[in-house]
Amino acid sequence: MSIATVNPATGETLKTYEAMGEEEIERRLQLAQATFRTYRTTSFAERARLMNEAAGLLDEDQQEIARVMTTEMGKPVTQSRAEAAKCAKAMRWYAGHAEELLADEEPAAADVKDSGASRVVVRYRPLGPVLAVMPWNFPLWQVIRFAAPALMAGNVGLLKHASNVPRTALYLEDLFHRAGFAEGCFQTLLIGSGAVDGILRDERVKAATLTGSEPAGRAVASTAGEMIKKTVLELGGSDPFVVMPSADLDRAAEVAVTARVQNTGQSCIAAKRFIVHTDVHDAFAERFVAGMRALRVGDPMQEDTQVGPLASERGRADLEELVDDARRSGAKVLCGGERPAWPGWYYPPTVLADVTREMRVHREEAFGPVAALYRAADLDEAVLIANDSPFGLSSNVWTRDEDEADRFVRDLEAGGVYINGMTASHPAFPFGGVKRSGYGRELSGHGIREFCNITTVWHG
Ligand code: NDP
Repeated sequence: MSIATVNPATGETLKTYEAMGEEEIERRLQLAQATFRTYRTTSFAERARLMNEAAGLLDEDQQEIARVMTTEMGKPVTQSRAEAAKCAKAMRWYAGHAEELLADEEPAAADVKDSGASRVVVRYRPLGPVLAVMPWNFPLWQVIRFAAPALMAGNVGLLKHASNVPRTALYLEDLFHRAGFAEGCFQTLLIGSGAVDGILRDERVKAATLTGSEPAGRAVASTAGEMIKKTVLELGGSDPFVVMPSADLDRAAEVAVTARVQNTGQSCIAAKRFIVHTDVHDAFAERFVAGMRALRVGDPMQEDTQVGPLASERGRADLEELVDDARRSGAKVLCGGERPAWPGWYYPPTVLADVTREMRVHREEAFGPVAALYRAADLDEAVLIANDSPFGLSSNVWTRDEDEADRFVRDLEAGGVYINGMTASHPAFPFGGVKRSGYGRELSGHGIREFCNITTVWHG
C-alpha cells in the first residue's frame, strides 16, 4: 500500500509520499536513543509545560487539522473537530496527573520489615523509545492516547501511522516540535508496514503498541515476543449492545444509532451486535431502524453530515461482503444494504435482522455502519450471544434493573461494561480488551504504567 492522501469522498489521489529509506530510519533511531538519554531525566513539571503547550497549539489548529483528517479518511468534519478537542483534553489530563500516577509507592511497613529492609520504594522509570503502530480511524486520537502518557512518563515515541493518513502523521510530529519537545522525543516514520519488523527488532526500540487489525497485531506481537519486548495491543471489537425490557427504549434506540454509526461505523468500540430481549425486540427495532434511516449521509466536509464515506475502497468491499453473506444466509435487511450510485466510498446505514451464529457478521468486525440485530429469550441467552464472539473489547447494557446490571457486569467477557449509555473512552478510565481484542490497557494510570520499568528500590 503506497503512502498517500486519497480523498474517500471522491476517490481522488491528492498526494503521494516517498517512504523513508534505511538511512533516514537509522538517523531517526539514533536520534530517539540519544534524546531519551537526556529526556528521561527531565522533571514532570517540564514535561507538563511542554504537553500543555502542545495542547494549546492543537486547540489553535483545530479547524485546519480537522479538515486534513476529513480529507484523508472521510470522517464528518464536526467529528474531526471533536476528536482534536478530545486530544487536547487528554494531553492536559496527563500533564496534570502524570506525576501523581507515577509517584513512588511504599509497600506496607510490615512487609518492608519482613524483607529485612529499612525502606522499600517502588519507582516507575521510563523504558526508552516506544514504537507506536497506529490506524487511520481516529488518526489523531489513537496517537495522542499513546503519546501523551508515553512522553509524560519520560519515554520517547516513534510513530508508524497508517499509510492513508500521512499528513496527519506529519502534523503530529510538527505539533510536538513546535511545542518545544526535543526533536527526538516524538518522530513520525513515513514507512510501509513491511518496515515495521526490522525496526521492532532493533535493540534501541524497547517496546511497541499497536492499534489495528488482528493480522497486524499478530505480526507485531510475534516479533516482539521473539525479541522479548513489551507490547500493548488494541485490536478489533464487535461490541454487544444489549437491551432488556426495563430499558428506556426511546433513549436506547437513539443512543444505539450513534453508538453504531460514530465515525461512519469505523470504530473498534462501536456497538455492532444489538441483542434485544424478545419482549421489546420489535419495538426497539422499529425505533432503531427509523433512526438509522434518518441519518444524513454525504459530503463529510458539510457541517450537517452525520455519516461520510468509508475510509477506503477495500473497507467498503469488505463490508459489502459481510452484508451479502448475511443476506444469503437468511438475514433480513431492514434498511440500507446497497451502495449508492454516487462516487466516493459511501455505504448506507444498514440494519440486518435475524442474524445467526453461522453468519460472518456474527464473528467478524463490521467496520462500517452495519448493525446486526438478535433476539434473546432472556438474560442468559443475551449473555450467551454477547460472549459468543472472538472479541471482548467493550459492551453496552440497557436495563433499569440493578440486579440484572450486576449479572451483566459479572458475566460479560469484555474490557468495559457501559450501563445505559454507549462506550466512550475518557483519559481517566482504563481502555482495552480481552480475548482477540488485545491485551494491556491504555489511558488512566494503567495506561501510563504499561511502558514503565517498575523498579523495586530496596534499602538495607
Ligand atoms: P491494519 O491493522 O492493517 O492497519 C493498522 C496499522 O497497522 C497501520 O499503521 C498499518 O500500516 C499497520 N500494519 C498493517 N499490517 C502490519 C504488519 N503486518 N506489521 C506491522 N504493521 C502493520 O488495518 P486496516 O487499515 O487494514 O483495516 C482492516 C481492518 O482492521 C478493519 O476493517 C477493522 O476491522 C480493523 N481495524 C481496527 C481498528 C481499531 O481501532 N481496532 C483500526 C483499524 C482497523 P499500513 O497502513 O501501512 O498498512
